[in-house]
Amino acid sequence: DHMQGPSVTEEKIYVSVRMRPLNDKERLRNNVPDWDCINNTTIIYRSQLSISDRSMYPSAYTFDRVFGPESCTRHVYDQGAKEVAFSVVSGVNASVFAYGQTSSGKTYTMSGITDCALVDIYDYIGKHKEREFILKFSAMEIYNESVRDLLSTDTSPLRLLDDPEKGTVVEKLTEETLLDWNHFKELLSVCEAQRQIGETALNEVSSRSHQILRLTVESTARDFSTNDKFSTLTATVNFIDLAGSERASQSLSAGTRLKEGCHINRSLLTLGTVIRKLSKGKTGHIPFRDSKLTRILQSSLGGNARTAIICTMSPARIHVEQSRNTLLFASCAK
Ligand code: ADP
Ligand code: MG
Repeated sequence: DHMQGPSVTEEKIYVSVRMRPLNDKERLRNNVPDWDCINNTTIIYRSQLSISDRSMYPSAYTFDRVFGPESCTRHVYDQGAKEVAFSVVSGVNASVFAYGQTSSGKTYTMSGITDCALVDIYDYIGKHKEREFILKFSAMEIYNESVRDLLSTDTSPLRLLDDPEKGTVVEKLTEETLLDWNHFKELLSVCEAQRQIGETALNEVSSRSHQILRLTVESTARDFSTNDKFSTLTATVNFIDLAGSERASQSLSAGTRLKEGCHINRSLLTLGTVIRKLSKGKTGHIPFRDSKLTRILQSSLGGNARTAIICTMSPARIHVEQSRNTLLFASCAK
C-alpha cells in the first residue's frame, strides 16, 4: 500500500555531496584542499582553473546539501538521508546510495547512515505502540553481475526471478527477522565476514562490488476496529554502497580486468542512466532490466519510491579528475 507516498510533484531525487577530510597520505604529498564548501548547498573549486579548464568545468556546484570535512555522519544522515530512509515506516519504498571513487568515504558514510537509520527506526517503534512492527533484514553483494548472499556461507550466485506481484525477487536470499539492535549488529558482522571471504579470493572486491543492505518494515495497527487502508503497511529501504565510480570511467582498460570492468560498468552506467531519466521525470522506457543492480532495486527506485544519493569525494588535488566526475554525476542526478 503506497497511499502515503509522496505525490508525483514532490518526487525528486535528493542529492548531496560529502567531502571527507584530507587523509595523512594526501597531506604528506603537500596537498591543500582544492575544494571548499562555502555554504550548505554549494561547493567550489578554489584553486585557479587553468585557461583550458575554465571553459570545460564549472567552478561552483550546487546540490540539495553539501557536507564539508568537519561534518559528522549523524549530521549527514539527518540532513541528507533521514527523510528518505524514514519513508519506509509509512509504507513507502526507498533507496539511499553512496556514490564516489574508491577511498572517498562511501563505506564510512553508508555504514554510519545505516546505523543511524536503525537507531531512529527502533526509537520510532518504541514511541508508536499503537502498531506492531516487524523488521526483516537481508544483505547481498553484486560482483561481476553475480549476486551473492552476505548472510549465508553458501557463496553460489543467486538468481533473479520475476514475480508477477512483487516484481524482481532474489531467489533464496536469506531474510532474518531482526530481534533487536544487537541482533542487527551481529548480522552486520556476518556480512563483513562473508565480504572478507570474497576479498581474499579476488583482489579489490570492495572497489568493484555493490553492497546492498535491505530492511523491510512491516507494521500492523493493533486496533483493528479502525480497519482502514493503513492497518497494514510494508515497505523496503535499501542502503547501497556502490562500487568505486572510477570503475565506470576506466572500464575499458585492457587486459584481465576487462570482464570485471565491463560488468561494473554495466551496473554503474545503467544506474546512472536510470537515475538521470528518473530525475528528469521521464515516463517512457527506463532501462531497469539492463543490470542486476537496477533490476533488484526497481521497486525502490522511481514510481512512489524515494531516493537519496550521497556522493562522496576527496578534497585533494590528486583526485581532481575523479571528483569532477562525481560532481558531474551528482549534477545529472538532481
Ligand atoms: P570507500 O568506501 O569510498 O572506498 P572508505 O569509506 O573506506 O572509502 O574511506 C576511506 C578511508 O577514509 C577510511 O579509512 C575511512 O575511515 C576514512 N574516511 C572516509 N570518510 C571520512 C570522513 N568523513 N571523516 C573521517 N575519515 C573518513
Ligand atoms: Mg568501500
